[in-house]
Amino acid sequence: MRFYENNKNQFMKKILWFIKVNKLRLGLIFTLFFLFLYVVIICKFIYDSKMQIELINIDLNNKSIEKEYLINEIVRLKTQQLPQEVEVEQEVIENITDQKKAVVNIIDNVSLNDGIPDSSLKKFVTSNISFNNRSYVPSNLVNISSEYVYDSKWWSQLLRSVANDALQAMAKQFFEDTWEKIVVVSAYRSYLYQKWIKDRGCPDNLCAKAGYSEHQSGLAVDLWEASTNHDWKINSKLQEYYKWLNENAHKYGFHNTYQKWLSIDWYEIEPWHWRYLWVEMATSLWNNNLTIAEYYKNN
Ligand SMILES: [Zn+2]
Repeated sequence: MRFYENNKNQFMKKILWFIKVNKLRLGLIFTLFFLFLYVVIICKFIYDSKMQIELINIDLNNKSIEKEYLINEIVRLKTQQLPQEVEVEQEVIENITDQKKAVVNIIDNVSLNDGIPDSSLKKFVTSNISFNNRSYVPSNLVNISSEYVYDSKWWSQLLRSVANDALQAMAKQFFEDTWEKIVVVSAYRSYLYQKWIKDRGCPDNLCAKAGYSEHQSGLAVDLWEASTNHDWKINSKLQEYYKWLNENAHKYGFHNTYQKWLSIDWYEIEPWHWRYLWVEMATSLWNNNLTIAEYYKNN
């Protein structure tokens, strides 16, 4: 023990001696080190602030460009005389199975939109099937109530009025059942907006090519956070919301377009993406456990 303490004392003495002899050099080294640390912290702070400003600018630019597109399109719509839905043709339904037959029977026997034929409500688009007219603009776009729009101070979202009415009714019931609000993060996306996103490098698995997005129909909404299927699976709140939507959305005419697999629906599973298909068709697909892609195509 004594030997150990003697050694320890010796060691401490040596250190003190070393400090005494080299105090100038050590002082210089410490000063330089702290100066370096200080410079690094300052640089990091400047870099972060700069990045933040850039991000804010990008964000503001996005918002103003989107707003500009939307305003242009609203002006275009108001000056139009004929609704553009007539340009949307119906796809051929292939390989009729019994399940499909049941859906077809329902659809053939119903007058759409309170007796006014409106085939655009059935329009099927996917990653390799575009709108016939790629710059198609739906008629009757209206603002979704800010109550249901994510970050409504900055964003407004548009939907076709028929889908908006259904969304309002569904959101009301959702609130009564869960005391939570439906939150729309994305709805109508114009051709120009899709093109604008694409031109900035958004990859194919995240953004459809311009003219290929179901959002362009003005009938589709992304609810809460459009993230990944995995994120939804591990979030119990989102799972609860999905359960409610899965059980009830068809009663309001909404269909979860991408609910099976990439090979069936042409896109990965997207629990947040709901498309208005009017009540009869959405209910019929739901009853027969078919997605709209399965209805239109043989998979
Ligand atoms: Zn979507």
